[in-house]
Amino acid sequence: MNNQYLKLAIQKDGRLTEETLSFLRAAGISFESYKRKLFSTCRNFPMEILYVRDDDIPGLVESGVVDLGILGQNVLNEERPDVKKLLNLRYGFCTLTVSVPKESPVTTLADLNGKTIATTYPGSTTRYFQKNGVSVNTVTIRGSVEIAPSLGIASAIVDLTSTGSTLALNDLRPLAPIYRSEAVLIANKQSAGSLKERALVNQLLTRFKGVLSAANYTYVIMTAPKQIAPKLTKIIPGLASSEITPDKTGSNIRLQGVVKEDMFWALFERLKTLGAGKFVMLPVEKIIS
Ligand code: ATP
Ligand code: ZN
Repeated sequence: MNNQYLKLAIQKDGRLTEETLSFLRAAGISFESYKRKLFSTCRNFPMEILYVRDDDIPGLVESGVVDLGILGQNVLNEERPDVKKLLNLRYGFCTLTVSVPKESPVTTLADLNGKTIATTYPGSTTRYFQKNGVSVNTVTIRGSVEIAPSLGIASAIVDLTSTGSTLALNDLRPLAPIYRSEAVLIANKQSAGSLKERALVNQLLTRFKGVLSAANYTYVIMTAPKQIAPKLTKIIPGLASSEITPDKTGSNIRLQGVVKEDMFWALFERLKTLGAGKFVMLPVEKIIS
């Protein structure tokens, strides 16, 4: 750890890599990255990005070799490293799930009593079954856990799922969710606390939060008859009256503003019925307040 640069460890080549790189770029951090690079120095922020296996991130952050890391919440739940979680990043969603073969007679967790479970998550699995009062044997397999039942190694598996397509492909069906997971930002406990680095960490957090809050918003432009403008600004508070400018015809006005995307869609039909039209939606990169 040095005081000049923050060090951030991210997954080198895996399911979180693409979205993590996009997230950092959306936060306005510019750097070069390509598959064989071990680290990048950011051009416009005092930070180095290290590309590592996701399994190494908890240890690197805990020991202070790096200040920050981005990894799945599932890895934190499994390994319980002594680090500080700073932020959920709203991508990399998945669920640690107990699954059984489609044809299996198992319908409840209790049916797995005395059975063998294959998993890459032995800690989470053991704790979950213990909590539910079901006694199982756990076999730890690194990779391709989903083929364990067809090999006769286990009656059930515990693995991460997102769309469920891997389960279906292997003739498995979900039995019970253990926990939901997403990508998270973690920090070394000391560097999150030391003054100079904390200022840098806070700058980074502000940018990350800006990306996260913008993700739910869209910039909407629409035209509408002048007389319904007050009504529209009332039903969509994001369209402030100061943002209304008359268009060329004078009878229609243009309204624009940042609005919550789900709210916009919920009101869309109503807006059209009221006479609004010519909708343009633009992505919002960041909202900093
Ligand atoms: P590495 O080579 O870095 O050790 P890995 O094979 O252990 O990679 P990946 O499969 O790339 O890990 O998954 C990385 C993370 O992506 C997981 O820890 C999890 O947080 C997230 N993830 C999102 N969806 C899924 C999914 N369907 N299956 C597995 N992981 C997922
Ligand atoms: Zn891994």
